[in-house]
Amino acid sequence: MKIPNMLDAKKRNKNEVKYTEYNVDFNNFGENKKFYVRTYGCQMNEHDSEKIKGMLSSVGFKSAEDINDADVIILNTCAIRENAHDKVFGFLGVLKHMKQSNKNLIIGLCGCMAQEEVVIKEILDKYKQIDFVVGTHNLDNLLKVLKEKIDTNNRQIEVLSYEGDVVENVPVVRDSKYSAWVDIIYGCDKFCTYCIVPYTRGTQRSRHHEDIINEVKQLVKDGYKEVTLLGQNVNAYGKDIYDNYTLANLLKDVAETGIERLRFVTSHPWDFTDEMVDVIAKYDNIMPYIHLPLQSGSNKILKLMNRRYTSEEYLKLYKQIREKVKDSSVTTDIIVGFPGETEEDFNETLKVVNECKFDGAFTFAYSPRENTPAALMKDAIPEEVKMDRLHRLNEIINKYSNEANKKMLNTIVKCLVISESEKDKNKVCGYTENMKLVNIVGDKSLIGKIVNVKITDTKSFSLDGEYVEEY
Ligand code: SAM
Ligand code: SF4
Repeated sequence: MKIPNMLDAKKRNKNEVKYTEYNVDFNNFGENKKFYVRTYGCQMNEHDSEKIKGMLSSVGFKSAEDINDADVIILNTCAIRENAHDKVFGFLGVLKHMKQSNKNLIIGLCGCMAQEEVVIKEILDKYKQIDFVVGTHNLDNLLKVLKEKIDTNNRQIEVLSYEGDVVENVPVVRDSKYSAWVDIIYGCDKFCTYCIVPYTRGTQRSRHHEDIINEVKQLVKDGYKEVTLLGQNVNAYGKDIYDNYTLANLLKDVAETGIERLRFVTSHPWDFTDEMVDVIAKYDNIMPYIHLPLQSGSNKILKLMNRRYTSEEYLKLYKQIREKVKDSSVTTDIIVGFPGETEEDFNETLKVVNECKFDGAFTFAYSPRENTPAALMKDAIPEEVKMDRLHRLNEIINKYSNEANKKMLNTIVKCLVISESEKDKNKVCGYTENMKLVNIVGDKSLIGKIVNVKITDTKSFSLDGEYVEEY
């Protein structure tokens, strides 16, 4: 049994990062068995789940449409805020009942919660229904751990606290046939004081650019229209392995593969260079959409958060992006109620929001994470104050989001149609170049195509439109 240790997780030793190939050779031990993967959290977890499905499928497992038909259930978890924890622990209650009526059911836990010492101790103590745990650093060991569980019927906990390797060619079953996630950098070395990611995802480790380009070239051949380059801080790409190859170089090289749409997420303002903005502005197939987390508009709080920029620097970058990248939209992340945040600090945040008029924002009440520096800071903000600030912030965010959407009324925009609309089976839905969700009057034959759409109505979080003509 290998369990995580948060002090070890904090250590950084670049020499330990190894580049390897996925090399698992098991017989079809999943034949006649079904799996169900439940994903919590960010896009990186969504993509990890595609790898989990890929690895399971490679040894004969089939996907179960309904969780009740599954022989193996895997929870791919998130640790970013306490409510992400609560959701998983709540669901474990449901799984306990399922396990009571099906003794052969195997339940596994992966993802960021698996990297938390306190979670593993709690699982060992109280959650006997969990049969195996695999950490984020050794996800490629999933089949070995699962097979061991099946062969021995002993509980398996295998979580490493070191940085982990960069493993190429892990099998993947992608959820979409048109839009694909591509990892470019794992982990994070920023250590924002509120954030657990540097502990659960380890040190910053870039993939080699040749491997990324080859993956995108294959996706183009397979008919994919869009790729999104993924990392906790994509703007740090290359810093750990190259002297002279950055995200700007990578964006240019990926854009030149001929992929029709290129996106990237998430950008840390501190690592965003002028050269990157210029490349985004230059290539038509790099989409004019940037997610640029602000976190706070108060310089005092930004410093306490260890964000490494001031609100003035953020605004300068923001304006540069808006000026240079034509018709761009910018969204952000904001935390309210960080320890020590006064009403004046909160007003500083509102000031920046009023200046930027973001297209949208993910807003959060600060949630203390065990073993992070902010969890030990004085002047915790009472829950009701956090909620009041969150409410006031959301009202302003929604107002600007509405205004930005209204500007698109009656325009004709290009949309990549990805699926049937969830709300209305007579409609399809897709995304504009600047990442607005549109519900489109049009038939299913449009799915997978980039088409012209006239925007006929706008709401806070989506647009309505009708298909105009083939692109
Ligand atoms: N790497 C990205 C960045 O630096 O902006 C984001 C990573 S995180 C998965 C997504 C968002 O969760 C963060 O931008 C932050 O706003 C929020 N977040 C992270 N830790 C948090 C905490 N302890 N409490 C509340 N929100 C948090
Ligand atoms: Fe967390 Fe900061 Fe790293 Fe983003 S940059 S993952 S917020 S530590």
